[in-house]
Amino acid sequence: MSSQKEEGQGQGQAGSALFPTYARFPITMVKGEGSKLWDDQGNEYLDFASGIAVTNLGHSPKQVRDRLVAQLDELWHVSNLFHIPNQDRLAVLLTENSFADAVFFCNSGAEANEAAIKIARRYNAKVLGNDRYEVITFQTSFHGRTLATLTATGQDKVKEGFHPLPVGFVHAPYNDAEALQSCVTDKTCAIMLEFVQGEGGVIPATPEFVAEVVRLCEQHNLLLIADEIQTGMGRTGKLFAYEHYGVEPDIMTLAKGLGSGFPIGAMLGKAKLREAFSAGSHGTTFGGTPIATAAGIATIETMLEERLSERAAELGDYIQAQLREKLAGNPLVKTVRGLGLLIGIECTGPVGDFVSTMHKRGLIIISAGPNVIRLLPNFYVSVEEADRGVGIIAGVLAEQAALAEGAATAKN
Ligand SMILES: *Cc1c(COP(=O)(O)O)cnc(C)c1O
Repeated sequence: MSSQKEEGQGQGQAGSALFPTYARFPITMVKGEGSKLWDDQGNEYLDFASGIAVTNLGHSPKQVRDRLVAQLDELWHVSNLFHIPNQDRLAVLLTENSFADAVFFCNSGAEANEAAIKIARRYNAKVLGNDRYEVITFQTSFHGRTLATLTATGQDKVKEGFHPLPVGFVHAPYNDAEALQSCVTDKTCAIMLEFVQGEGGVIPATPEFVAEVVRLCEQHNLLLIADEIQTGMGRTGKLFAYEHYGVEPDIMTLAKGLGSGFPIGAMLGKAKLREAFSAGSHGTTFGGTPIATAAGIATIETMLEERLSERAAELGDYIQAQLREKLAGNPLVKTVRGLGLLIGIECTGPVGDFVSTMHKRGLIIISAGPNVIRLLPNFYVSVEEADRGVGIIAGVLAEQAALAEGAATAKN
């Protein structure tokens, strides 16, 4: 009843009619172009977050925009009860450029992982004819916010208050080849892995660890699910992060960078998984609409034509080298790590205040866990922009180190 509503709802207080699910920065962006963002006060920012690895081609990239506008004039939506040529085209582009043979389109990362978990279980039930259902995932991993994917996620904070959780998920320590073997049971059907943990703090998997994951999958006939929602679409300097390791997953999930900002997710799999799904076994209303898949086609075509994965690799190496040089000797900085343009600066303590100060200096950057500053520049960032971003980071961290030292001296 309206009389019982809280005062102030929808009366101009930002966020008052929204559930408080996000700790938002006190900035309201109103325009973006390339690497630049502008807020409602007219301030300009250099964007090193890319909407968390989403706008990999920068804001409003012309190639994607033109394709979307053309599609808007043709057809927006038609049910998956009909053929959708853009879906076929994007599926061909994705399978021709990856290990995969078949694609299912959805709308988000969590949904892509749901589809991956479902097909892994159903492949075991319907094709292999066994009763295995357990998925091994890793501590500090992130796989999404639906009930199954938050259960898969190796972080307790996303689970609080949501019990009972679905059964069938086991969490092994990440980058610990020895501990993994004892997690495999006669119920295990799959191992789900981020080749670089993104939300968990920008932590690349070691080659030895990946080799052990693959060995166990082969030994026990387990499916390897690569969660490439953050690492995929060129972010790590290859089109997909698994390419760095010389291995192939059986299933891969994509979302963030796939549509350059238009929502789209995808679950890709090897040919043997085809028979696990049949008409009616999985689906979604909005998965792979003509518009969403137009965004995906334009994104991947642009990436391939302009060799943007290679550019991400070069730019990533450059930025990481610059960060190492400019941050050398800073007592607040533990290490700089990452792969391509997925870069983390691990600090000795919480980085929230550093991130806010960088925003005030005109650099949009985010964290990954409490102690890691995360950089996710777009693939077109110029050397001048890279230098400017690194300069702001180094400047703020030098100031903060001096402040911390001053405080320590004053105490003594
Ligand atoms: C962001 C992310 C997800 C979840 O994607 P949503 O689109 O937010 O549902 C899952 N896995 C990884 C590795 C991610 O980075």
